[in-house]
Amino acid sequence: MGILTKDVAIDLGTANTLIYVKGKGVVIREPSVVAVDRYTGKIVAVGSEANHMIGRTPDNIIAVRPMKDGVIADFDITQAMIKHFIRKADVVGIMKPRVVVCIPSGITEVERRAVEEAVIQAGAKEVALIEEPMAAAIGAGLPVNRATGSMIMDIGGGTTEVAVISMGGIVSSRSIRVAGDALDNAIINYLKKNAGINVGDKMAEEIKFEIGSAYEDDDEALFDVRGRDVQTGLPKTVQIKESQIREAMRENIGEMLEAVKLTLEHTPPELAADVMERGIMLTGGGALIKGLDRLLTSVTKIPAYVAEYPLDCVAVGTGKALDNIKELLARRK
Ligand code: ADP
Ligand code: MG
Repeated sequence: MGILTKDVAIDLGTANTLIYVKGKGVVIREPSVVAVDRYTGKIVAVGSEANHMIGRTPDNIIAVRPMKDGVIADFDITQAMIKHFIRKADVVGIMKPRVVVCIPSGITEVERRAVEEAVIQAGAKEVALIEEPMAAAIGAGLPVNRATGSMIMDIGGGTTEVAVISMGGIVSSRSIRVAGDALDNAIINYLKKNAGINVGDKMAEEIKFEIGSAYEDDDEALFDVRGRDVQTGLPKTVQIKESQIREAMRENIGEMLEAVKLTLEHTPPELAADVMERGIMLTGGGALIKGLDRLLTSVTKIPAYVAEYPLDCVAVGTGKALDNIKELLARRK
């Protein structure tokens, strides 16, 4: 157990929760998943351990993802999950930690309060909030405090956040509930309709990792998809092509591009000119979709870059905001 108070940053994502401890960096990186006993309601496991249990335990153990579309869908389970991760991060000593947590830019006051409340009940002394695009931009190393336009696009599990930042503030932004989970669902629906095969969430995500791509190039990867025949319900394997998955994801990726265009349209011309020149920085797990950067560049004519550690940017940026925790706390009062 830690002795002194530690300042902690939490990236409470729909897909992954990360905890950053001042002086140490990111110490927890786990899926936002909790295994619950369906009959007793008891929590059986949290994070990676819960993820591992799914499908390997009796039917009464179910996986719950307590965050949905960037906001809390199940308060009690979210609070228990945060408590578990804070303990695991070893930051609860004699004094409770002060916490900065990031939230999507588009959420309501009620949704914000729920995040604060969950973190307090999980054992924090005080909580400050920071907007996710700002955290992502800081974590990706963009010069957010300079008088120049920086554009960030963070594609997570539940939400895609696009923002232009200048002089420490968000100038224009868009948050849409189309991101990694939506792509998985699109793949499920496409395969059902076009290949006669039913696949689960995990398989759909794996297909996305293996052959998902946004931009057409010369090579056409193949993947053996395992699932169940739509008609007979029997196990079935079908070979699927990269181009089919690109087709499956096309509409959702189009919506992501639209969010970029709309954000630019609402950006003052000088700052938009900065963005045209300096480019768009991609963060979040969705930044790893093959060819997304190339597609963005070909559609918008703006250079696009994938951050070095896209899955860590929000946590690292929220962690850096710990240096201004007093200011952030004062802002809430
Ligand atoms: P959140 O902040 O919402 O928790 P993350 O930034 O952790 O989300 O990203 C999780 C999303 O990124 C998931 O939908 C996951 O499937 C997707 N993802 C992770 N790695 C890849 C990859 N290599 N290719 C495509 N998508 C990916
Ligand atoms: Mg995120």
